[in-house]
Amino acid sequence: MNNNPTTQETLIREVLEKDRCSACGACVGLCPYFTFFQGRVVALDRCSLSGGRCGQFCPHLRPNAALKEDGPGRVLERWMTRAQAPGLRKKGQYGGTVTALVLLALELDWVQEAVLTGTGKNGEPEGRVCRTRAEVLECAGSKYSGAGTLSALHPLLEAGGGRQGVVGTPCQITAVDNIRSYRSEQRLPVDTIALKIGLFCTWSLPYAQIRKILLEKGVTETILKYDVPPPPAEEFRIFTRKSRVAIPLAELRPLVPRGCLACGDMTAESADIAVGSAEGVPGWNTVLICTERGLELFREARSKNVLQVKPLPDENWEHLGTAVANKKKRARAQEERSID
Ligand SMILES: Cc1cc2nc3c(=O)[nH]c(=O)nc-3n(C[C@H](O)[C@H](O)[C@H](O)COP(=O)(O)OP(=O)(O)OC[C@H]3O[C@@H](n4cnc5c(N)ncnc54)[C@H](O)[C@@H]3O)c2cc1C
Ligand code: SF4
Ligand code: SF4
Repeated sequence: MNNNPTTQETLIREVLEKDRCSACGACVGLCPYFTFFQGRVVALDRCSLSGGRCGQFCPHLRPNAALKEDGPGRVLERWMTRAQAPGLRKKGQYGGTVTALVLLALELDWVQEAVLTGTGKNGEPEGRVCRTRAEVLECAGSKYSGAGTLSALHPLLEAGGGRQGVVGTPCQITAVDNIRSYRSEQRLPVDTIALKIGLFCTWSLPYAQIRKILLEKGVTETILKYDVPPPPAEEFRIFTRKSRVAIPLAELRPLVPRGCLACGDMTAESADIAVGSAEGVPGWNTVLICTERGLELFREARSKNVLQVKPLPDENWEHLGTAVANKKKRARAQEERSID
């Protein structure tokens, strides 16, 4: 009898039960055994497979590649940007840069399908496949919870053909790299994943916990927008059609999954382009161009007047460097704690 744990048992024991899951969605939509419900992965039945894809795709079961080096990884260019179109700026989280870049990639036919994060019918964040302008616009804005987004990528890869763009947090971009490595080992096409746009990320919050806090405050409507204003605000803001709720970050920090505390990638180091807020400059984004592919798209965006572009101030670059270093320090400390 084989007593080795199955892949599913390993994933459950090492990630789900240890609160390391960041709800990236890479293990969902591959088989009948895992599903995504209200912001979390749920095991529906037992799987007897060892070497299953779920465990190979999970970003929290492999060494943290971002911890090999200090700094934000390879950066070819850095800028401050916002969408040229006022409508996109209004819809976007900060400057609407990500939405503008996704729309451009679709328009140029560099990608035919964009895997983004929208809001489901019960208000929970969810992965979406977007092919039209309207679908992309519906996904604008940051939902600060793991949304299982990558579960929407698998059917596209299974179907074959097409070219996909993915927008995701650093753990999601790592999971996409894991998916690519697996496909490459299996001699399956990998170049259909044609563009990776990463989002800067310090932490995420479990959706079910946010919903619970809102219910305790009597808020039942769908969340329209989330915001984490820069220091010294120290609060998480949630906007619905009728209410604006501010929750002190001190109340939320204990809810951050351990997987986030052990995550050393602030800027999605292996993305083609990574986008975050431009601290101290409301309505603008910080943009890091990390690959030749990203540079090509960015140059198209400039030449087609899709983005407004300014040099990133030195103090913003230094500040980002500190945030990157702090996140790596936090992850190393967490790693040491889990070895003790
Ligand atoms: C969990 C999380 C934590 C973040 N933490 C930071 C941070 O610490 N510092 C910082 O500078 N920026 C952070 N960001 C990024 C920031 O919120 C913006 O997404 C980014 O600056 C792009 O802004 P934009 O105006 O171009 O966005 P938009 O044009 O509005 O585009 C936003 C894109 O984000 C995608 N998206 C929304 N929610 C999610 C989600 N839950 N998972 C994956 N994709 C999603 C949507 O599909 C959309 O395409 C975080 C984002 C998330 C989702
Ligand atoms: S982090 Fe992603 S792959 Fe890992 S268990 Fe959670 S949803 Fe699945
Ligand atoms: S902190 Fe890391 S693990 Fe957590 S959501 Fe962000 S990228 Fe994912």
